[in-house]
Amino acid sequence: MTRTPLDVLNPATEEIVATVPAATAEDIDAAVRRAARAQRGWAAVAPADRARLLRCFADTVDGHLEELARLEVREAGHLIAAARWEAGNVRDLLLYAAGGAERLNGAQLPAPGGFSVTFHEPLGVVGVIAPWNFPMPIAAWGTAPALAAGNAVVLKPAETTPLTALRLAELALEAGLPEGLFQVVPGEGSVAGRALVDHPDVAKIVFTGSTRTGREVMERCAARVTPVTLELGGKSPSIVFADADLPRALDPFSFLDNSGQDCCARTRILVQRSVHEECAALLTDALGAVVVGDPLDEKTQMGPLISRRQLERVQGLVPPAAPGIRGTAPTGPGFWFPPTVLTGEAADSAAATEEIFGPVAVLLPFTDEQDAVRLANATPYGLAGSVWTRDLGRALRVSGAVRAGNLSVNSHSAVRYWTPFGGYKQSGLGRELGPDALTAFTETKTVFISTEGSAP
Ligand code: NDP
Repeated sequence: MTRTPLDVLNPATEEIVATVPAATAEDIDAAVRRAARAQRGWAAVAPADRARLLRCFADTVDGHLEELARLEVREAGHLIAAARWEAGNVRDLLLYAAGGAERLNGAQLPAPGGFSVTFHEPLGVVGVIAPWNFPMPIAAWGTAPALAAGNAVVLKPAETTPLTALRLAELALEAGLPEGLFQVVPGEGSVAGRALVDHPDVAKIVFTGSTRTGREVMERCAARVTPVTLELGGKSPSIVFADADLPRALDPFSFLDNSGQDCCARTRILVQRSVHEECAALLTDALGAVVVGDPLDEKTQMGPLISRRQLERVQGLVPPAAPGIRGTAPTGPGFWFPPTVLTGEAADSAAATEEIFGPVAVLLPFTDEQDAVRLANATPYGLAGSVWTRDLGRALRVSGAVRAGNLSVNSHSAVRYWTPFGGYKQSGLGRELGPDALTAFTETKTVFISTEGSAP
């Protein structure tokens, strides 16, 4: 089969920054075979030596932080400060996972006539399918713990953002990781992604992306009973009670970070009716002050969307005439959309229920605690959310009642590499990150050892 090249565009200028070959199904097959060979050797490496090599990989990433960050700006349009943080996050994930390799302990369980011990054995070759919204960190979420647990990884990055992942694979080799252990194979989802999911020698798939594609990936994994972790979409609420610290609660970067292309973005701003007007006024001031433009300029607060396709998707869900509060955005080349809060949407409208994945939130009023919880849960998603109130009892009641995997009280934070992350309902399946990240890439084997027998 012929390889169609993929043009990688700078989303802020629409210029081609690189062209990479797109993998065919045969390329994926060859990569998986190489990975399987490398994995057999890697699994035999002592955990402390695996950890040492992963720490070398982390140091090598650290030594190339600025280069990786600038590459991320060019292919994904991320703000330079955010891109530096993302490259640092890859380093930190590798260091955290390296420590896990040394602590992948089994258990010893009493049993009549002997005892049982458990071992966490690597799965083999893990396929990671990454999206374009956080190309580096999300690639590392799956890769770092999988490698630490003794697996090999074949990573398919998104078509639009393969460059940082390709560079990370080069840095892994430079750091001394064995050839074939961590391979990055760019290509189209419908060709390379599918071939990875369907490959009989891939022992697990880690997928991050849309719920629609995630469902298809899960169906295909079911055919071979391949384990799968899914991190999918979100439509996360920010629940703001009248007693909250309103300026902090209404921080527009709760949904504008990464131009809203964030599965945890708080895109449904639910505010108690008595402070609805005050909240709208705060958002008007805040959106008017957001600086949108060149991602390399340190003063810029929001950059472009990833692609024309994504821009058109956002434009389709948010027509210019829709009532709302708007900031400004550059015109001319680049995929720009202004920061927007829609104010005239019904709670069941498309804009209030679908993941827009752009710098857009909806403002919806609620009457009391019960109404707030009802609205927060009126979604097929359940990824993240914030609860803003000075009443601790209410904060805990509401956190308990909202069906989502990652909540924060009086904060908009969601993701830390040392805490578990994942979604309820159609936001996903399984958990990534946190202290148990490595065990998700192992099979647990129980061995019973008999102590019975006659003395020699
Ligand atoms: P997709 O879910 O289609 O893409 C995510 C990844 O899956 C990409 O690497 C993609 O490759 C790959 N892929 C696509 N089709 C298949 C397939 N059949 N088998 C295996 N892998 C496949 O998301 P989109 O890029 O199309 O974005 C659409 C929407 O998805 C966004 O608007 C947003 O709502 C949501 N999304 C959510 C993300 C999250 O973090 N939860 C991340 C990204 C998107 P390729 O790049 O070639 O298409």
